[in-house]
Formats: sequence, structure tokens, C-alpha cells
Amino acid sequence: MAELFYDDDADLSVIQQKKVAVIGYGSQGHAHSLNLRDSGVDVTVGLREGSASRAKAEDQGLKVASVADAVRDADVVVILAPDQVQRLVYADEIAPNLKEGAALVFGHGFNIRFGYIKPEAGHDVFMVAPKGPGHLVRREYADGRGVPVLVAVEQDASGHAWETALSYAKAIGGLRAAGIKTTFTEETETDLFGEQSVLCGGASQLVQYGFETLTEAGYQPEIAYFEVLHELKLIVDLMVEGGIAKQRWSVSDTAEYGDYVSGPRVIDPHVKDNMKAVLEDIQNGKFAERFIADQDAGAPEFKELRAKGEQHPIEATGRELRKMFAWIKPTDTDYTEGSV
Ligand code: NAD
Ligand code: MG
Ligand code: MG
Ligand code: MG
Ligand code: MG
Repeated sequence: MAELFYDDDADLSVIQQKKVAVIGYGSQGHAHSLNLRDSGVDVTVGLREGSASRAKAEDQGLKVASVADAVRDADVVVILAPDQVQRLVYADEIAPNLKEGAALVFGHGFNIRFGYIKPEAGHDVFMVAPKGPGHLVRREYADGRGVPVLVAVEQDASGHAWETALSYAKAIGGLRAAGIKTTFTEETETDLFGEQSVLCGGASQLVQYGFETLTEAGYQPEIAYFEVLHELKLIVDLMVEGGIAKQRWSVSDTAEYGDYVSGPRVIDPHVKDNMKAVLEDIQNGKFAERFIADQDAGAPEFKELRAKGEQHPIEATGRELRKMFAWIKPTDTDYTEGSV
């Protein structure tokens, strides 16, 4: 059984006595910064010169500084820049300015697991990784709740890394839900596997194939959209509330029987073999290498794939249909439809 932590297991005053620099003000960065601030923690957001996020952070009443200045002052440095730039920011602006004994915090273990960042021995290195998108991390906190977090300590130089990590997790609201103890390796490998095989990669491909199959058979794209994309949320909500069993309980017996007989025809044992191959490429570092090499070259593969995905006919159908749904309110304000 996993080791769990709740609010009572952490002392908020530990992080309240430290100066925290949050590097990056994107999905996770804005949520961590605002939640820390509202928990009475001294936070400075560290941003690049000319960063588009500067105005946003300042509008929220946060202190903003250059990355170097924020780091110079900080006892705790939280690295929430995109994974592919973290090692560059670390080498250029964080490491040269890091105070002796300052702690390093990550929201995902990628750069430590794959060796792109190798902190010196004198620093605590820990992770507090919310199991949800940043916008939800902020919204839940503001509503008095929290998103569960994974907590790990990679390097305990001070002998107090766990206390600091749990205090930090409490300050962003994570321990209102629960903290789950893990390692950088376990978090990184399972996170990449989950998003690639099931949550992002698997689900996107499943929806696209479903849409293609129906429209190629002559059914109306609007009907296909509802069947394979829109209703997915209702099904997933039931799973989150009560597992696959609750989903099956809620749907008709016809749907439940179809689930049993056709699910394994569509997602057959080959899919599991493919998943194992994907996991292997995560574990052996091939995925990380391919991602970073592409990013370093200006992301040609990434941009091409993104544009190709945006051109799939399901996106045009969805854009038109969603105009009719006054009740679907985007939870973030940064995303513009068709912006690729
Ligand atoms: P993001 O892309 O939303 O935002 C990154 C921010 O970093 C930008 O908004 C910008 O303010 C800043 N930035 C970009 N380039 C920079 C540079 N060169 N120097 C300094 N700052 C720079 O990133 P994100 O999705 O919040 O991811 C941050 C970390 O959190 C990653 O490690 C990611 O894996 C992890 N994480 C993200 C989520 C999520 O909900 N998106 C969930 C769990 C963990
Ligand atoms: Mg993104
Ligand atoms: Mg991830
Ligand atoms: Mg139906
Ligand atoms: Mg039923």
C-alpha cells in the first residue's frame, strides 16, 4: 500500500519561513505561485526578460524578478519552466546563482530522471507533482479543496528535505486531498507512460479512429462527434467517481454488454504489446532523447505533428458544434481554438 500524507502530517510554518522562487508562470507555475502566496509564503516569480507572463503575474499582485535575481534570494527554487528548457535555464541562470543549501523543487521528474540536470550534492532535491492540470490546481485551492500530489525526495542534503517537501505540498493545497510517496523514477516513467498510452496519445487516437470509422461509413460528422468525443467526458466522470464498475452500472445493459464483447476486439492484446514497447522506450531514455533532440533543433517534428493533428476533420466539426453549447465553459483563458 502506498504511503499517504495529509494536512496533519505537514507543518506549514516550514515553508512559510523560507523565500521561494517559482521559475515559470505557465500552467503549473501560476497555480503554485498563487497557492503559496495565499498560504502565507514569500514568493517571487522568476521570468525571462520580455516574458509574456510578467504582466499576468504582476496583475495577480505577485513579485516578479529575473530568473537570476529570484534565485539569488531564494531558499527554495521551484523549476516550472517547460521540461525541454529546464536544463538550459538551470545551467545558465539557476546553478550560477543558487544559494548554498538552497532546495530545488520539480513538478515532474523528467530532467532529474534522464540526467539533464545534475544538482550539486549540497542541495535538497524534491518533487511535488500535482496529478492534474495547473488550472485545476489553482481552482481547487481557491474553492478550499486540493488536487492530489506525488511527493518524492531525490536528494536529502539537509536531513529535512521531507519536512520541506510536505510543507510545500500542504501550501499548494495538495495535502487537502492527499500526498502519495513516490520516487523521481517512478513518477517520471509512469507519468510519461500514462500520457502517451492512455490519457493523451491513446485517447486521442481512439477518438480519431472512431470518428473516421463513422464518417467514412457515411454517417454525419456532427453525430459522430457527439458519439465518440463529446460523450467521452460523461463516461470518464463516472469512472473517476466509481471506477469502470460505476460506468458499467450507469449505462444501459445494451451498452454494458457491448463493452464486454467489443472492447477487447477494438483494444486487442496487440495494444498491450504496443504499450509495453512504449514503456520500454520511456525506461531506456529513447523517448526523452528524441523529444529533446527535436526541441533543440527548433521542434520541427513537434510542430509538424501539432499542425497535422489540428487539421483532422474532427476539429473543424467540433469548433462549429461547440458554438451551440453555451454551457461548455473553458476553464482556462489562454487557449484560443484553432490557434496552431
Ligand atoms: P507551461 O508550458 O505551461 O509553462 C511554462 C512557463 O515557463 C511559461 O509560461 C513561461 O512563463 C516559462 N518559461 C518558458 N521558457 C522559459 C525560459 N527559457 N526561462 C524561464 N522561464 C521560461 O509549463 P507547464 O505545463 O506548467 O509545465 C511545467 C512543469 O510542470 C513541467 O515540468 C511539467 O512536466 C510539470 N507538470 C505540468 C502539468 C500541467 O498541468 N501542465 C502537470 C503536472 C506536472
Ligand atoms: Mg502544453
Ligand atoms: Mg506529464
Ligand atoms: Mg449512446
Ligand atoms: Mg447498467
